[in-house]
Parts: sequence; C-alpha cells; structure tokens
Amino acid sequence: MVKFFCIAFGMLPMMVATAAQPVQLAYEPVGLGWSAAEVERASSAQMDALTERAHKAGQLGCSAYCDCLHRVFSRLVVEARTQTERSATLPWSLLVLRLPDIKAMAMPDGQLAISETFVDGHLPSEDALAFVLAHEMAHSILEHERQALTFARLLLPRQIVRSVKDMYVEMDFNLSLLMAMEPVMQQGEYEADELGMLLASKAGYDPDRQLAFISSQCQSDADSVPLVATHPPACQRLQRLQSLLPLARRQRPTFLH
Ligand SMILES: [Zn+2]
Repeated sequence: MVKFFCIAFGMLPMMVATAAQPVQLAYEPVGLGWSAAEVERASSAQMDALTERAHKAGQLGCSAYCDCLHRVFSRLVVEARTQTERSATLPWSLLVLRLPDIKAMAMPDGQLAISETFVDGHLPSEDALAFVLAHEMAHSILEHERQALTFARLLLPRQIVRSVKDMYVEMDFNLSLLMAMEPVMQQGEYEADELGMLLASKAGYDPDRQLAFISSQCQSDADSVPLVATHPPACQRLQRLQSLLPLARRQRPTFLH
C-alpha cells in the first residue's frame, strides 16, 4: 500500500463551487506591517539553510514518493494560483528531503518543504498528503507570517523602528511575546486547515480521507502541553474540519462524486 502527510479554521469568505469557474476561497489580507517582499526576503534564508543541511546529510531530494509528491503538488498549485492576486504569481516550489526532524513547512513566498520520512510514517493516502501540502500552501496564500509579525509588533513598544529580522530576533528571545501570540498563531492554523481542505478538495482529493493525519494526531497528542502552543489541540482542529466536510465534498469536481 502506498504510504503517505504540517497541520492545524477560521471564518473565510467562501462560495459553493460552480462548474469550472475559479472559486475564491481565500480572503485578501489587509492592514499588514512591512511589505510582502520584506517578509519574503527575511525568511528566505531558512529554506536555504534547510537545503544546505539536507545536502550535507546526503538526504536531499525524493526517493520513494517522487511521482506522488510531484502529482499532488502540481494539482494543488493550479488551485492555489486561483486564490488571490499574489498567489497567482508566487514562485510555488516543493523541496523534498529525508530528515527525521522535519515534517512539512511553507515559506511566505510559496516555497514548500516536506520530508519523506514524515510522509512515510504519517500519511496513509495521497488524499492525506494533499491536505498537508494544501495546508502549508494556505499559510503562504493568507500571508500568515506577515500577519503574525504585524500582531507581534503591536505588542512591543511603538517608539522603536524594527525590521522583519529585528522581529525574528525578538521572537527568538522574548517568551512572553510568543505566548501572547498564541491566539493569532492558532487562528492561522485553523484557517490553513480550512482553506487547505477546500483547496485539496477542489483539486479532486477526497475530504474525508484528507483528515487521516489530524485524526491520528487527535488520538495521540491528547496529553501533550507545549510551552508555547503554536497549534490548537488536534481534536479541536479535527472537529472544526469535520463540520466543514459537507462544503468540502461539494468542492470536488462533479465527475469524482
Ligand atoms: Zn500550519
């Protein structure tokens, strides 16, 4: 059996799908600090560092899931490009590596990364993989990094001008700031869950089967209490996603029903 995979609902403006028409499921972020380009520049080094680390470990590139990852990512990019003015032009890409401490992640500029070790251990179907990648793409589409940075700045003294890099340093060393950001980060995860499931459904993936990873997380992480809860409890995420299933099923192309 083919084994397969970051995950975390908010109030998104949505429309029920009609025949072959682009359906905007995402909102256009507004009122943000720093430009999208500033945020993209400041965070791009993270993907470079990850690539370098995987390369040095001889764990860069796909091995067991190349066709599947390529197929799922390609189908999702088509849907991601229909969402916002910015998402239509992002240089979407997928970095595949095999590092055990990496699951899946997305940069603000649409660069995604996923580890095959995570795919292998946690994603039992192509639908589950599609949900995880679509969730990551939703973070980039909705500019969650830029939103979180803007919120963080509002929590700090106003008289000091801070670059995006200054904010990352602050977030590295200011635990109380990170803890105060929990509600915003968790809202971002709910939104990425919601938009991710709808986009993956539009791309043809079965929404019921997409929930395999969140469902298993719900069963396994009930007792874990992290110092800073960047993600909401998996069971709450699952519950919100399940309430969205009827809408998600209607997003699937009708020939797949
Ligand atoms: Zn996420």
